[in-house]
Amino acid sequence: MEINTPAVRHGAFAYTWDIVGDPEGAERIAGLGVITVTLQAAYHSVRAITPWHPRHRVVRADHAAAYFRLRPERWRGRLRPYPPDWGVPDEDRFGTALAALAAAGLRAEAWLVLTHSSVLGRRARDLTVTNAYGESYPHALCPAQPAVHDYAITLVGEVCEQYDVPALMLEACGWLGMEHAGQHEKTSGAHLSDCGRALLSICLCPACRRGLAGRGLDVEELARDVRAAVDAELQRGVPAGTSLDDALGPERARALYDHRARVIADLVRAVAEPAGGRELLLMATDDPQVTGPDVGIDLASFDAPVDGYVLKCWGREEEALARVKAAAGRTGVPLVANVTVLEDGHARVPDLAADLIAAGARQLRYYHAGLGSPARLASLRAAARISRENEC
Ligand SMILES: [Zn+2]
Repeated sequence: MEINTPAVRHGAFAYTWDIVGDPEGAERIAGLGVITVTLQAAYHSVRAITPWHPRHRVVRADHAAAYFRLRPERWRGRLRPYPPDWGVPDEDRFGTALAALAAAGLRAEAWLVLTHSSVLGRRARDLTVTNAYGESYPHALCPAQPAVHDYAITLVGEVCEQYDVPALMLEACGWLGMEHAGQHEKTSGAHLSDCGRALLSICLCPACRRGLAGRGLDVEELARDVRAAVDAELQRGVPAGTSLDDALGPERARALYDHRARVIADLVRAVAEPAGGRELLLMATDDPQVTGPDVGIDLASFDAPVDGYVLKCWGREEEALARVKAAAGRTGVPLVANVTVLEDGHARVPDLAADLIAAGARQLRYYHAGLGSPARLASLRAAARISRENEC
């Protein structure tokens, strides 16, 4: 008789407030059939529904926060994470949730958002992403800044020193660009193209200027050209181009991508030290032009000790499948498909999960154990039953 041990690791994302203060929270997640939980350890601001919690329904996390135990003496420099003051009070929400998940038989990995913190960016504008107009984006700390790098390493180090977690999932382990979904956005009406947005997402802070100049770029000329291309599109409707290669010329685009790849790889390598052998799962997009929570890199050439690339498979199914299939052909690093059950087509998620596995995904993470309705969680539960053995 075949033993039904899934070869594919299924997991679900969860917030600490889905578990802390709810005696049944961890068991409820275990009931989804997943074996691992990607648990919020450091996270940006958010407003979340908590359908099941005995003490709250809507949690408003007003600012980015660290959910693990903060040891003030460990934080040097200007960037220090804030504790949360929402949800059920607990000085160590991550630890409390982790213990509850372990008691429910679940493995948990630490979900760490590294460079996305408006509360820190507003207080340290000189450490944030700065566009070609000299305007800073407070939601985006620039990873080329040594102080940001050190802050990210300390975040990871503090989690690894204090908790026994086998893996870390790194979100925003690079640049966020101009997009900031958390705000009331007023930039979409201008019909700025993807390329225009990519141009406005190029960081020209002092650290990035040094990095780019070191690769032979004339940074003043670059800034001027970026402004000219963006203004031409915004003011005269002249498309900025199909890509940054097109808009900047392939040599300058290459230098920018090399700078980014170097900074992101350095950050991952630096994180690997305190991680001490824990699995590193990097939220990534196989496109060096992209900035955002899934860092844009060239999967075929990215050189850092990563144990898995987490690829977002939200939105159109065929595109997600094509993305995973293409990525599987370009890297030997295992692929983790990040699938949402929060969209209307959630009933398709079990089939999508099987297709993603066939396309090359070795693990799946479902978004989100805490936010889903009963019907959506039923889709998650059905997907988590799919194993490599029972695919056709
Ligand atoms: Zn920068």
